[in-house]
Amino acid sequence: MAHEPADLDQRLMDAVERLGAAARAMLRRSALAEGLSLTQAQLLLRITADTAPPQGTGSLAGWLEVSAPTVSDAIQTLVRKGMVERGLRSGRAWTATAIGRAVARRLRRWQDPLRAALGGQPDAAKATALETLLHTIAELNVGGHISTARTCLTCRFFRADPEAWCALLETALAPADLRVDCPEHEPRTSA
Ligand code: SF4
Repeated sequence: MAHEPADLDQRLMDAVERLGAAARAMLRRSALAEGLSLTQAQLLLRITADTAPPQGTGSLAGWLEVSAPTVSDAIQTLVRKGMVERGLRSGRAWTATAIGRAVARRLRRWQDPLRAALGGQPDAAKATALETLLHTIAELNVGGHISTARTCLTCRFFRADPEAWCALLETALAPADLRVDCPEHEPRTSA
């Protein structure tokens, strides 16, 4: 029996929810092994991400979709553990210490099972999935449900016609090239 489109939407939502729950559980296990909470691990990963801009407490809270006091508490714990320090010389509000960077490298291994599971999927299907997810993120961002989205589809440099194009980097953007966390991203409108 054929499924209705709405049923497909529901199954996609269910799948996203399952993946999100599994991803959080995998990261939480890695965090516990390092003596960190999930939020502390997420913060350390964000602070050490190559694509992350200099972020203060408010910006980090927006990225993690948690409150500023929650971020503040988690950062103080990371500072006490010697993993994070004020990043005055680097131009960043917070920067990871050598200890923090080593912990972050171990934490990032939580993604290995996910990467392996994706590895066997066809590239064309993954590119379509990426484009669909980014369109969904853009809609949620416009609706105020995702506060920070540094993606091509929410960027003022993105052109859709006659082909997907980045006006800053002056390059075509095939679905597989679309960025999720672009260092050069600038929002379409300043919210
Ligand atoms: S600047 Fe980055 S996010 Fe914006 S369109 Fe270009 S590649 Fe995409």
